[in-house]
Amino acid sequence: MENFIVEPQKQIPVADTCDVLVAGGGVAGVAAALAAARRGKRVVLCEQQYIVGGLATAGLIAIYLPLCDGRGRQVSFSVAEELLRLSVCEGGGEVPALWQEPHTPEERAHCRFKLEYNPQLAAIAWEQAMTAAGVRILYGTSVCAIDQADGMIRHVIVENKSGRSAIAVKSVIDATGDADVTALSGEETARFGQGNVLAAWYYSFTGGKPRMHMLGFSDIPDKYKTKETENLLSPRRFGGLDAEERSEMVLASHKTLLEDYRRFREKGDEALPMTIATIPQVRMTRRLAGDYTLDDTESFTRFEDSVGLISDWRKPGPVYEVPFGTLHGSRVKNLLTAGRCISVTDAMWDISRVIPCCAVTGEAAGVAASVGSDFTQINLAAVQDALRQNGVALHTDEIF
Ligand SMILES: Cc1cc2nc3c(=O)[nH]c(=O)nc-3n(C[C@H](O)[C@H](O)[C@H](O)COP(=O)(O)OP(=O)(O)OC[C@H]3O[C@@H](n4cnc5c(N)ncnc54)[C@H](O)[C@@H]3O)c2cc1C
Repeated sequence: MENFIVEPQKQIPVADTCDVLVAGGGVAGVAAALAAARRGKRVVLCEQQYIVGGLATAGLIAIYLPLCDGRGRQVSFSVAEELLRLSVCEGGGEVPALWQEPHTPEERAHCRFKLEYNPQLAAIAWEQAMTAAGVRILYGTSVCAIDQADGMIRHVIVENKSGRSAIAVKSVIDATGDADVTALSGEETARFGQGNVLAAWYYSFTGGKPRMHMLGFSDIPDKYKTKETENLLSPRRFGGLDAEERSEMVLASHKTLLEDYRRFREKGDEALPMTIATIPQVRMTRRLAGDYTLDDTESFTRFEDSVGLISDWRKPGPVYEVPFGTLHGSRVKNLLTAGRCISVTDAMWDISRVIPCCAVTGEAAGVAASVGSDFTQINLAAVQDALRQNGVALHTDEIF
């Protein structure tokens, strides 16, 4: 039999109030916060680390995958492009020359609009963009509970160095990557059944230059697994939602990193590790089971409620309209999700989880939260107009 105690009840202060609370400051949270704040909303962003960017900075995943379709056409615009450009605005990487000036799709067809960046410089640039837009960033702050009434979240309970307190909210954007707030609120969620392979990406300093080591390169959705690919993937899988298991994963990735370093050293290559990921490198864990669940077979499908376009980083061609229904459910009216925990099938997850797509859904959520707070009956035309004004393309026929 399990052991339980009853946590003593106590009063906590309402420490702040805001229009939009963004939970999590990864790429999706940054995009959401920027979009809502620039439309005049009071935004508080709670981030449990002391750096913004999430996996894309603290997780050392510093490859901004393509904003284009691989056939020379840009697909994702506005904040998704801004964050890409900001990631290298102080150096550490470069926008591909063919995407710096106007060129025809034919000329750009073999050059994808993507880049590698320095995670530390990117984090600071994204942080500065948010403070310039008036976003209040609360670092070292975990969203740990919510208080709701009549299907609306009224307060978000947070814990940080000051203790436990509440923030009064009009709406909430769950950009935690793991749909933490969505699960806490009782909104429907789904888990990634196959679990995550062990990843241990890190940088070393070799011959005066940074070198990226991509240990645990990529995963293959169940649907596309074959006998041959099975051998490429580690048998131990991590669900990513259990504290003990996350610690086990981090311990194992540190061990893998050390073994990799030793291999280099034995060969006489002094590839000294420069930095280490401070959040576990999990790809897919838990997501919203929303009003709509997008599948990878739905490229070029028109959705009247589209809030942006994303491409497939793995191959040229497919472009997806992202329905607003993938960002919200029906139980909690003033909650949206953004980033790697939106409502998609397992096969689509491998496409929608990457950095540019997280920026697209983040911006869409931020703009929606600036238009209203009951997302089950939002004025969608107003959301789409505002996104268009930002330069977002909503339907595939707008880019062809
Ligand atoms: C090994 C690996 C390789 C990858 N390779 C690439 C690649 O090459 N290119 C690419 O584009 N993408 C890649 N990805 C995917 C991509 O990095 C992520 O999916 C994307 O950055 C996720 O962004 P996000 O904002 O949705 O979530 P996250 O980056 O997970 O951000 C969530 C943030 O929320 C915070 N948070 C979580 N819970 C709470 C809470 N309760 N309260 C407050 N804060 C909280 C976290 O600290 C974090 O900062 C890779 C991922 C992995 C793991």
